[in-house]
Amino acid sequence: MKFGIRNTLHLCLPSLLILIVLSTEASDPSSIIARFQQYLQINTAQPNPEYKQAAEFIISQAKSFSLESHTIEFVNGKPLILLKWLGTNPALPSILLNSHTDVVPAEHQKWTHHPFGAHMDDNGNIYARGSQDMKCVGMQYLEAIRRLKASGFQPLRSIHLSFVPDEEIGGNAGAGTFSQSEVFNILNVGIVLDEGLPSPSENYRPFYAERSPWWLVIRTTGAPGHGAKLYDNTAMENLLKSIETIRRFRASQFDLVKAGLRADGEVVSVNMVFLKAGTPSPTDFVMNLQPSEAEAGFDIRVPPNADPGSLERRIAEEWAPTSRNMTFSFKQKEPLHDKFGKPFLTATDRSNPWWTLLEDAVRKPGGKLGKPEIFPASTDACYFREQGIAAIGFSPIANTPNLLHDHNEFLNQDEYLKGIEIYESIIKAFASFVDPERDRSSTDEL
Ligand SMILES: [Zn+2]
Repeated sequence: MKFGIRNTLHLCLPSLLILIVLSTEASDPSSIIARFQQYLQINTAQPNPEYKQAAEFIISQAKSFSLESHTIEFVNGKPLILLKWLGTNPALPSILLNSHTDVVPAEHQKWTHHPFGAHMDDNGNIYARGSQDMKCVGMQYLEAIRRLKASGFQPLRSIHLSFVPDEEIGGNAGAGTFSQSEVFNILNVGIVLDEGLPSPSENYRPFYAERSPWWLVIRTTGAPGHGAKLYDNTAMENLLKSIETIRRFRASQFDLVKAGLRADGEVVSVNMVFLKAGTPSPTDFVMNLQPSEAEAGFDIRVPPNADPGSLERRIAEEWAPTSRNMTFSFKQKEPLHDKFGKPFLTATDRSNPWWTLLEDAVRKPGGKLGKPEIFPASTDACYFREQGIAAIGFSPIANTPNLLHDHNEFLNQDEYLKGIEIYESIIKAFASFVDPERDRSSTDEL
């Protein structure tokens, strides 16, 4: 008996100690915040992100609580880190928690604290580029999983985390290639969580779709002539007529937003982003010559429920008509429909069980959820929706001004810690979800 007891003690003490260390690491706020600051201090700003250091940091975190990790480079020097927590039924569709590791550049001199110092002020605000977009989310996923592991939770469905590069420059080398790869296919993803936006109110903002960018360039030609002569069909006059037409359309869309009839993400936005015209002289521009060519660029964002055909006709017939010697092309034109021909959106009603689970899981620890919205810009979530997979954009940041890509981006430590609790609840709900209808075939296969 004595031997028995001694043996049991020998076996249990180390694992007990490990459990205690794990749960202290998982619950101690100052360690949690220090890890967040460490990630923020890695300068992953475009155009030269320190991807290697970011990858090493993420992998070391994953190792500290025994998550399986793989590094994939679809493009040399741009690592994508894939972490895995195997579910007890890996045949079921899995969960993917996506975040990007890069951030946009920061103008250091215009910040109160250094953008890669991760300084915390007396109010608990942590200042850093990426504190909202979206290193917070990547670390919160990890912290939530660290806690779930320490609590002894066992996921039914496998959980994957992808830390992807280059979202801020279009995502082709990251989520774009990943979502079309065999590596992704094998994961059998059922639901993706990706970034959302901070909310100045107490309600978190969930996003079920986003607008597709159409980057339009219109060009016109006309007979050159003396700057003093009035005549028809000059390149500048032709272009100006188009600009006026486009501005009227812009105003009509903006009026809908101002009147409160549509949200930002529900209208077609169009903004002129460049103008190229004029004949250069050695010192400036030639002033007495009407140029023979002119060009303008527009950033158009199209919501998934818009009619792409009618917008294309409008561009061809009104914005760049051949009758005014005009042509047009797109620098980028993302589709509005997924590969199955359905609009790019994730249902936010009873037809989508993941949505219902998310709603309940956010409320459980006391979070409040606002009305689902269309993301006004683009995120990596579009690549997953393009594959016909449900994707929800969600950053658990409430009571915070939206400072994405702005100076003095910050996140309060309490808001960050609360977000971890929210993710813990969501991941637990997603990973335990049994869908009697859809999972039958996967269970039968076992
Ligand atoms: Zn982002």
